[in-house]
Amino acid sequence: MSSGRILVVEDEGKIADLVKAYLEKDNFSVTVAGTGQKAISVLKEGFDLIILDLMLPDMDGEDICETIRNDSTVPIIMLTAKSEEEDRIKGLGIGADDYVIKPFSPRELVARVKALLRRVKGTKERISFNEGDLIMDSSRFEVWKKKLPVTLTPTEFKLLQCFADHPGQVFTRLQLVNVILGYDFEGYDRTIDAHIKNIRHKIEDNQRQPTYLKTVYGVGYKFIGQPDED
Ligand code: CA
Repeated sequence: MSSGRILVVEDEGKIADLVKAYLEKDNFSVTVAGTGQKAISVLKEGFDLIILDLMLPDMDGEDICETIRNDSTVPIIMLTAKSEEEDRIKGLGIGADDYVIKPFSPRELVARVKALLRRVKGTKERISFNEGDLIMDSSRFEVWKKKLPVTLTPTEFKLLQCFADHPGQVFTRLQLVNVILGYDFEGYDRTIDAHIKNIRHKIEDNQRQPTYLKTVYGVGYKFIGQPDED
C-alpha cells in the first residue's frame, strides 16, 4: 500500500532522483516535475504533499506556491538554498508548511514529509495497535501498554516508532543501526538485539511469543502489531 502521493518539483535531476529514491523506499509514490509549468499541469492528478524547490528555471517556487494555494490546502515543503530568515518567513507567508534548506539529508527530508503528513492528519500522531493494547504518541514521546505508561529510552522509542510506522516490514539489524545512529556502523548491530530485548520486556505480554516485535531468523525483525482503525 502506498504511503501517499508526492509531487517533487525540482529542476536539478540529481536531487530529484535522490529524493524520489528515498521516498519510494518508504512506499510513497512519486511524480517529479522539472519545471513550474509541468508542476502546474500535473497538479490536478491530486497529491498528498508537494516538495517544491524555490529556484526553478521558468518560474519562482513562490509563484507556484501561490498558484497551488489558490485552490488547494495540500501540504507543501519548500526546498531552498537560501538560508536567510527573511526568505523563510516570506515562504511561510505565501503558504508553505515547512522548509528544508539545501544541502539537506534525504533522510531528514523524508522524516519531515512524514511528520507533516502526520500533523495534517491530526490524530495520526497517536497510533494504536491490537485494539488499544499498545498506544504510541509520537509528538509527546509517550507509550502506553494496557493503558499504563511505559518508559522507553530515546533509542528504544526511535526503534519502536520506526517499526510502528512500517507494520509488516522486515528490518535488518544494520538498517536499525541506521535508524538509531543515522549511519551504518558494523559491529553495532548486536546492540540492536539488546534494545529489542528491552523493548519486548516493556511491551510484550510473553517475550517468547511476541505480538509486536517478531524475530525474522537470519534477517532481523519486523513489527506484527495490528494497527487499529481510526
Ligand atoms: Ca532549482
